[in-house]
Amino acid sequence: MELLEERIRRDGIVKKGNVLKVDSFLNHQMDIQLFNEIGKEFKRLFAECPINKILTIEASGIGIACIAAQYFQVPVVFAKKAQSINIDGDVYSTKIESFTHKKIYDVIVSKKFLSREDHVLIIDDFLANGCALAGLIDLVQSAGAAIEGIGIVIEKGFQHGGDLIRGKGVRLESLAIIDGMDDETGDIYFRQ
Ligand code: 5GP
Repeated sequence: MELLEERIRRDGIVKKGNVLKVDSFLNHQMDIQLFNEIGKEFKRLFAECPINKILTIEASGIGIACIAAQYFQVPVVFAKKAQSINIDGDVYSTKIESFTHKKIYDVIVSKKFLSREDHVLIIDDFLANGCALAGLIDLVQSAGAAIEGIGIVIEKGFQHGGDLIRGKGVRLESLAIIDGMDDETGDIYFRQ
């Protein structure tokens, strides 16, 4: 997605440790006009799929998922990071290791909001090693729901999450794929 790549080139900041900061438009301050274009693009890509629910994870996925949901006209459910003491039989739970915080979280979704009738589109901001997505896929499968596809805003193609998820046979669409970043020059190389 040209508009997104231009924005990443202009405002993205390459940090040490393969981290790209996009705080000024994606995951702190949010550019809603850009989010609208992202939502439209997800709708175009998944137009043929019988999606009745969008699943994301707190916090950064929520804004993107909500704007996209307006194009799909479906509700958004976000997986919550929980204390394990609060986990009871009313929820599906899984464990996710955070790439940015290097911590393992218990993540839950209430059984009320995900069931075998659902056809789910999973949306998230970043794909790096694939832990967040693997956890979300696990939650959907625990509920017996169908995964119609996954929409990612920025995939870091030089990490292995994309291969892992595509290897599971799930349809994954990333709007920008970065094949390399240089924290000294600030250069970002996009997949063509
Ligand atoms: P994964 O589980 O695929 O390793 O990482 C995905 C999650 O880590 C995303 O939901 C995102 O919040 C965070 N993340 C991974 N890489 C980056 C990055 O380079 N920049 C930012 N801002 N977040 C990242």
